[in-house]
Amino acid sequence: MKEHKRKRILVTGGAGFLGSHLSERLLKEGHQILCVDNFYTGSKDNIRHLLSHPHFETMRHDICFPLSVEVDEIYNFACPASPLHYQKDPIQTLKTSVFGAWHLLGLAKRLQCKIFQASTSEVYGDPQTHPQKEEYWGNVNPIGFRSCYDEGKRCAETLFFDYKRKNLVPIKVARIFNTYGPRMHPNDGRVVSNFIVQALKNQPITIYGDGSQTRSFCYVDDLIDVVIRFMNAPEAIFGPINIGNPAEYRVIDLANEILRLTGSSSPIVYKSLPSDDPKQRRPDISKAKELLGWQPKTSLETGLKATVAYFDQVLSKNALAAELI
Ligand code: NAD
Ligand code: UDP
Repeated sequence: MKEHKRKRILVTGGAGFLGSHLSERLLKEGHQILCVDNFYTGSKDNIRHLLSHPHFETMRHDICFPLSVEVDEIYNFACPASPLHYQKDPIQTLKTSVFGAWHLLGLAKRLQCKIFQASTSEVYGDPQTHPQKEEYWGNVNPIGFRSCYDEGKRCAETLFFDYKRKNLVPIKVARIFNTYGPRMHPNDGRVVSNFIVQALKNQPITIYGDGSQTRSFCYVDDLIDVVIRFMNAPEAIFGPINIGNPAEYRVIDLANEILRLTGSSSPIVYKSLPSDDPKQRRPDISKAKELLGWQPKTSLETGLKATVAYFDQVLSKNALAAELI
C-alpha cells in the first residue's frame, strides 16, 4: 500500500475474539494498527502472530480512563461480550461501555476522525418483534443481571448519537448479533464455544431451558467483512445497522449439529434458564444489504467445522501442556 493511503487505526479490544480478527484483516489491507486492550478477556495468544508485524503495536490500557493518541480511525470493540464475563464485574462492564465510549468519542472529536461502535443485538433485550429491525426500541430490563451490558451498550449508543448531533463526530454504529469462530474464549460460557468444547471432551452438552430459544449465528469472517465495509461507507451511512446472519436456529438444533460434526458421544443435559435470557433473536439485515451491499456467505456447517478444528487444536495444546507440568 502507498504510504499516503496507509491509515493509522486504533482498535480497542484488539486482543479479543473480534478485535484480533479485525486487526489482522486491517493489517492485511496495509494499515497500521494500534491495539489497545486491558486483557480482561482478551489474550496475547490471539495476537501473538501479529506482534512481530512492523505495522502492529499494542498498548495495555483500560478505556474507562482517557486515552490520548494520534490516529486516523477508531474501532471500539473493548467490552467483555459473554454473559459469564460481563456479569463477573458488572460495574466495570458498565464503565467500560459508558466511560469507554465517552473517552473515545472525546478523542474522535479532537481528531475529527471516524469512530465505529461495536454495539449489540442486546439493545433489543428480549424482543417482542421478530425479526428485529433497527427501528425497534427494545424490551430491556434495566435492573437485571444482563443490564450492565444491555443498558451500558444502549447508553453508549446515546452518547454516539449525541456526539454526532452536537459535535459532528462521524460515527458508525453497528448492532452485532451472535458471532462465532476461531479465537472465541474456550471458557467464556457462550453457547457455541461451550457446546463444541463439551462435545470434543465427550462431556454432557448443557442446554439451558428446553433448548427451544433461538439465536442467529454469524461466522466471524463474514462479520469482519461488513464491519470494514461499514466504516468505509460514505459518512451519511452511520447506522444503527444490524449485522449478523439471519439464519435462525433453536439451541437444541445447534447442539445436535455440533454432535453430528464432532461425532461426539456426549449426552444432552438440561439446566435452568438464566434470568432474562431472550427467547428469540434474528436480525433483519435489509439495511446492511441495501446500504452496504452485504450479506453473510458462510453456512453454519462450514463455520462450525472451522471452529471445531480450532478448538480441537487448542484442547490438544492444553492437554500437551498439562502433561509437561
Ligand atoms: P472479547 O471478550 O473476546 O473481546 C473484548 C476485548 O475487550 C478483550 O480483549 C478485553 O480484554 C477487552 N476489554 C474489556 N474491557 C476493556 C477495557 N475496559 N479497556 C480495554 N480493553 C477492554 O469479546 P468479543 O466477542 O470479541 O466482542 C468484542 C466487541 O463486540 C464487544 O464490544 C462486544 O460487546 C461486541 N459484540 C460481540 C458479539 C459477539 O457475538 N461476539 C455480539 C455483539 C456485540
Ligand atoms: N446456552 C445454553 N447452554 C450453554 C450456553 C448457553 O443453552 O452452555 C443458551 C443461553 O441460555 C442462550 C443461548 O444459548 O439462550 C445463547 O447464549 P450465549 O451466551 O451464547 O449468547 P446470548 O444469550 O448473549 O445471545
